Amino acid sequence: MDRLLRLLMIFSLSVLFFSCEENPPIHTDTENTVPGDTGESEDEETPSDPIDEKYPNWKVGISGFGFSPQSPKGTTFTIKEKKFLIKYLALTRSILNTQEFLDAWEKNKDSIDCASETDSYPGSPYSISTGQEYNKDRLLETILNADFDVLYRKHNLESNIASANVGKSLYVRQGYDPDVYDTEYLCNLWSGDLTQTPQGYVSYLSLIFHENLHNAGMEHHSGYDAVSKIQMILFNVLYGNPNNIEGRYAEQTAEIENSYLEKYAHLLTDDENMP
Ligand SMILES: [Zn+2]
Repeated sequence: MDRLLRLLMIFSLSVLFFSCEENPPIHTDTENTVPGDTGESEDEETPSDPIDEKYPNWKVGISGFGFSPQSPKGTTFTIKEKKFLIKYLALTRSILNTQEFLDAWEKNKDSIDCASETDSYPGSPYSISTGQEYNKDRLLETILNADFDVLYRKHNLESNIASANVGKSLYVRQGYDPDVYDTEYLCNLWSGDLTQTPQGYVSYLSLIFHENLHNAGMEHHSGYDAVSKIQMILFNVLYGNPNNIEGRYAEQTAEIENSYLEKYAHLLTDDENMP
């Protein structure tokens, strides 16, 4: 078990390394969206989604699946891979709705780096600039209340790279800027682990969370890396308690996963080939 733990930590750190080095902000990418990725209004809430009521935190969903422009011709994004991704997203949401995560945040929040994002918005009391310390309560609030859909693109390269576009700063704008979610959320997934073993997927899952934090407006540069510190809080909740994965939260995760499989069934009809 110790050996497995060490191996997984090494694996995870290498994932961290690659992800951190390869995350330049991708400001625009209007091509390569998939059909059905247009104009879904976040404002018209469906009042009676039982999953949203039961698991109100981290409503980060899927706007579509696609391919990063760097993927070689002939790349296929299979239904099986898409379903693995859904499982990751369900487990992440499940954990972000537990007291265990909140406790871990409380315990580790002082280790979260200063910001490397700069933004302000009229009427918001939460401006931020590179090198400034976050208000950790506000930071947690904006993460828990995150509510956006992401276009997940398969990035079929040998190198272990995931990347995401940097969205508007939820820390500054959530609750103040009515257009805070009016942006295109992209996440390019390293394809190597889309069919991982249960032991390996904690690292990959936390990497996707890392990319989603970029979507939420966070960055890492200038010697500050709050993103990876927050990623590690999730990682440790899961990895520190293997039982969380297959046991303790299995029922909650399955419930969210099943609702996602239903909600996104229209995206799961075919193995998709890169055009
Ligand atoms: Zn990053």
